[in-house]
Amino acid sequence: RIRVRFAPSPTGHLHIGGARSALFNYLFARHHGGDFVVRIEDTDQKRNVEDAEAKLIESLRWFGTEWDESIDKDGGVGPYRSMDRLDIYRSYIDRLVAERKAYPCYCTEEELNAEREAQKERGETPRYAGTCRNLTPEQIQAYEAEGRKASIRFRVLENRQYTVHDHIRGEVTFESDGIGDFVICRPDGIPTYNFAVVIDDALMKITHVIRGEEHLSNTPRQLMIYEALGFEAPEFAHVALILNPDGKKMSKRDESLIQFMEQYRDLGYLPEALMNFLVLLGWSPEEEQEIFTREELIEKFSLNRVSKSPAIFDIHKLNWMNNHYIKQAPAERIAELCIPHMQKAGQLPGELSEQQRQWAERLVALYQEQLEYAAQIVELAAMFFEDGVNYDEEAKAVLAEEQVQDVMKAFHEEVASIEEYSADAIKGALKSVQKATGHKGKKLFMPVRVAVTGFTHGRDLNETLFLLGRETVVQRIMNVIN
Ligand code: GLU
Repeated sequence: RIRVRFAPSPTGHLHIGGARSALFNYLFARHHGGDFVVRIEDTDQKRNVEDAEAKLIESLRWFGTEWDESIDKDGGVGPYRSMDRLDIYRSYIDRLVAERKAYPCYCTEEELNAEREAQKERGETPRYAGTCRNLTPEQIQAYEAEGRKASIRFRVLENRQYTVHDHIRGEVTFESDGIGDFVICRPDGIPTYNFAVVIDDALMKITHVIRGEEHLSNTPRQLMIYEALGFEAPEFAHVALILNPDGKKMSKRDESLIQFMEQYRDLGYLPEALMNFLVLLGWSPEEEQEIFTREELIEKFSLNRVSKSPAIFDIHKLNWMNNHYIKQAPAERIAELCIPHMQKAGQLPGELSEQQRQWAERLVALYQEQLEYAAQIVELAAMFFEDGVNYDEEAKAVLAEEQVQDVMKAFHEEVASIEEYSADAIKGALKSVQKATGHKGKKLFMPVRVAVTGFTHGRDLNETLFLLGRETVVQRIMNVIN
């Protein structure tokens, strides 16, 4: 049975790269009718961030890559949080030490730093020199008597090759001689990532490890541990990086880019749009197709169509795609997303009456086709909330046309005499103006639109005038009458 996992460390928000890994794993599992496990790798305690775990889970849940097993859903191979598995790791560490495949190392941080510096000065690639490789029991006793605490290092076999048969990258071979004996357990008894990940993947019966390329160089170390413990290694697939539009590596610190799923959610992107967008950062279908339902993705996804070249993150494409999904979504759902933004911007009160809510929903519906993401509503609808209208040069030119005064006066009268103000009544009023003045089409509608909104383009005119309300419309028309 195919089993895959997404194993984030709780060091911050869910990054789009992480979300893409989760997605690939999810799609792979569903495609093969297998299991998708979400595991928390939190043994690097210095890097852990409070609340990050809860936020990661929340973001993943929002994203929609549903899992079969995790900290909240036991599949019988838990616990699913590394720090809850320390006893399990302990037994395997002890076993490796007993078999002399790992050994205690008493070197201090200062000693190791000095060693690294010296190696760098000699132009060598720094790696553990093997100081504690063959300590005698007496030496060990002496260190212990000094009160030194040992970390446990894995004894790397000399002169060996480790080949990763990667589903995406092909065969990648590493020489063991380039890899120094590495720490698998820190002096405080907590194992390192490279060790915990192997134990967890093995005991959780993970068959395929699909993860970011940044972990490729860890893989030979992990293969060594599989070998030493007699575990069968899973298959690997290392997904290429996501690059900035300028072709540079994405940096989590780059603030000009929106990089975290939470931010996209807060701006009013739809999870299904992000799913569709992120899958195409690396994977491509056989046929020319860009918009996919989740079911189609599950059906079509395969690792052999994941590219080994980096993908470029293009926010314009994401916006285009999100707009596509917004257009298709039910109006109530989009209103639900937009209204809080308008409230935050002070365009709407925090508490809405039934009437205000209905009005806001109609307003959002008016712009639904145009929205790239929900937060844009504040800017798009700004003219509904401003006291006056600012006319730019183009607007002024329209308002200076010779028929405008006649049209405005007639329209003013018509609007003022509407009995029940509605979009239909406004349509009727404009018709009457056409009859009375003989002006139609652009000569009629354009100046009305410009007078009331300040823009030469916009959404449906009747609905716009209705939502602005009679008072505002009359006032703005009056303002352009000489
Ligand atoms: N915990 C690792 C990370 O967050 C994942 C490593 C893996 O997938 O093996 O980068």
